[in-house]
Amino acid sequence: MRIVEIRETTAPIASAIANAYIDFSKMTLSLVAVVTDVVRDGRRVIGYGFNSNGRYGQGGLIRERFAPRILEAAPDSLLDDSGTNLDPDRIWAAMMKNEKPGGHGERSVAVGTIDMAVWDAVAKIAGEPLFRLLAKRHGREANPKVFVYAAGGYYYPGKGLDALRGEMRSYLDRGYTVVKMKIGNGIAEDQPRIEAVLTELDGKAQLAVDANGRLTLEQGIAYAKMLRDYPLFWYEEVGDPLDYALQAALAEFYPGPMATGENLFSHQDARNLLRYGGMRPDRDWLQFDCALSYGLCEYQRTLEVLKTAGWSPSRCIPHGGHQMSLNIAAGLGLGGNESYPDLFQPFGGFPDGVRVEHGHIVMPDLPGIGFEGKSDLITVMRDLAT
Ligand SMILES: [Mg+2]
Repeated sequence: MRIVEIRETTAPIASAIANAYIDFSKMTLSLVAVVTDVVRDGRRVIGYGFNSNGRYGQGGLIRERFAPRILEAAPDSLLDDSGTNLDPDRIWAAMMKNEKPGGHGERSVAVGTIDMAVWDAVAKIAGEPLFRLLAKRHGREANPKVFVYAAGGYYYPGKGLDALRGEMRSYLDRGYTVVKMKIGNGIAEDQPRIEAVLTELDGKAQLAVDANGRLTLEQGIAYAKMLRDYPLFWYEEVGDPLDYALQAALAEFYPGPMATGENLFSHQDARNLLRYGGMRPDRDWLQFDCALSYGLCEYQRTLEVLKTAGWSPSRCIPHGGHQMSLNIAAGLGLGGNESYPDLFQPFGGFPDGVRVEHGHIVMPDLPGIGFEGKSDLITVMRDLAT
């Protein structure tokens, strides 16, 4: 049993939207196929992976360092003790050979992309859905019912409040109970947007707001004083993701739930957030996204960090809206997952036929991560390798 080839390509996920920090007009991602010599149900097992929106494709790093290290390793050194499946942690260690600690930037995205493909292959070789394999490994009961919320409400050039209200209405119509919108361009612009959305929701769903790290401490406090009068689901990523003192100071001005973590890419960074960010385990939310932060091998270390700091995995609702985090949520008891009903297709979203009901989806029992159940996505993946 061995990995015979690793293919990668860069795919566009551009769209005409912007948050307070970046626009998505040139956004890309890396798509990876880990090709094995294993055959299941008459088909060669291939694991697929991609990185989340928000960071760009990482083809250079994948081609120059991380894929070659896996292919250069002795095949037997990448298997588990039984020799009947690949070992994700051993493959992860092979990828990270000769990498210094610290500086978790684009490297963590490249590794996370390959790691997703490896776990997909491992679950397919085992012949079971990844969330069931994960639950078993951790001695837990899997729960295929996962909370999801609708992320949108971007700044769309040329669109006004009516379009924003219509978008939020469509999320309600599709079964969501929590929706999210972008803020951070200024209170004068954002307060009418927030009020318009709350009017449209009419108490039938809760609203979360996301500043995408745009605000200074002073601006974040000014927003907090405005926002705390509304019954928000959370106030997200107010300031720079690495400014833990800013995050800690905000709690004095904002008693409601806050959320952050999508731009922290290692268990060490997660630990620093919990040590120094003043995050409150009884109400705040953690959004680390494995597909940007060294993958599921590392995410399991992050969950260990949480446990040591007294946090439940149920306080995690990852960024990204991909099926990998849905599997982790269902397998390891996370609080849910982000979803982008109208964006970043075909990579984001759910297998065909999965519907949101009362803010939850139910995971189908598909081997691996479940990409084969999403016809538009698996078509793109099989174009890369079959
Ligand atoms: Mg965000």
